[in-house]
Amino acid sequence: MANICVCARFRPLNSREEGGPICITRSDSQSFSIKDEKDEQYLFSFDKVFYEDSEQADVYEFLARPIVRDAVNSINGTIITYGQTGAGKTFTMEGANILEADNHKKGLLPRVVDELFDAIKVCGEATAYNIKLSMVEIYMERVRDLFDLSKDNIQIKEHKGHGILLSGVTEVPILDGEEALKNLSSGIANRAVGETQMNAGSSRSHCIYIFTVQKEVTNEKRVSTGKLLLVDLAGSEKIEKTGAEGKVLEEAKTINKSLSALGNVISALTSIPNAKSLHIPFRDSKLTRLLQDALGGGSHTALLCCCSPSLSNSSESVSTLRFGARAKHIKASLRMSSKEDIDKKQDISDVKLKIAERILKK
Ligand code: ADP
Ligand code: MG
Repeated sequence: MANICVCARFRPLNSREEGGPICITRSDSQSFSIKDEKDEQYLFSFDKVFYEDSEQADVYEFLARPIVRDAVNSINGTIITYGQTGAGKTFTMEGANILEADNHKKGLLPRVVDELFDAIKVCGEATAYNIKLSMVEIYMERVRDLFDLSKDNIQIKEHKGHGILLSGVTEVPILDGEEALKNLSSGIANRAVGETQMNAGSSRSHCIYIFTVQKEVTNEKRVSTGKLLLVDLAGSEKIEKTGAEGKVLEEAKTINKSLSALGNVISALTSIPNAKSLHIPFRDSKLTRLLQDALGGGSHTALLCCCSPSLSNSSESVSTLRFGARAKHIKASLRMSSKEDIDKKQDISDVKLKIAERILKK
């Protein structure tokens, strides 16, 4: 049993905050103190703290790389960003732009893609990989397929051997990094299309990127699968602060409900030593149901709490950090996915050939 990895990240002050007071005092690379607007001091320590001057590459190396490596070896992994709107969740996940070439700004997703395809390149003759990508968002308790907007209410099912599945979700086969980025970019653009239709901001929905990594060891004639989830959560800010009304208020309530369902699941998982004997309310929201494997065992999981360092945002930052501090106590067991006979699956030697052709062409 391993605890989930919980880290905090502070973005640099933005133009509105610049010149104003900051609320954190660094202790070391794992702990710091933070004061709120009422001058209360809180101490926090996490697996790692990324301060304002941290690099995207540092976050990737510490938080994501071990999980991506595991996914290549068929161990499921989940990386979650949590925090108020504007705290740096999407910047961490996508970078300033998903197609960003500047290494300082490149986010976790393009780095994940690089690592996955690097692993494939060096895997040798005896192993073949087949990578598929899905992208969904959860908006107002509906799971929408970002590769096919007509699928706007995807059902979440539980399969005995494979765990939590999205029924009928589009899975795009990915043959190289360039193709992966192109698809990620079109999924993100679809998110924006949805937004204007429903008059929502991307921070009103949870966005989930799913890489399915099938591995075939040729002479074993079997495939195993590692699923890698990257989850960019909706903003966690309190409703009162947003001054929301009407539809925006409904959205905010739904978000609060799913994030508090997430909080309740975390509390249930950490409240007693043997959480198995307790009812864990995974079914209380689409988000918690989708994250059931990530939180309830069977996945290598990391949570990044994103915060502003400004005193003006400190009460939200404290609540984000408290959420992370609670999650630190979750113990999750890692699970190798079950292996399946190759004839039950799509034959991936075909894909292996296509990947080899691409590499030769370059
Ligand atoms: P969220 O997704 O949490 O709502 P964003 O990731 O969109 O927030 O960040 C809000 C703004 O702050 C964006 O303009 C983003 O580019 C910027 N930003 C966030 N984190 C950083 C960082 N670590 N370094 C530089 N700019 C950042
Ligand atoms: Mg965002």
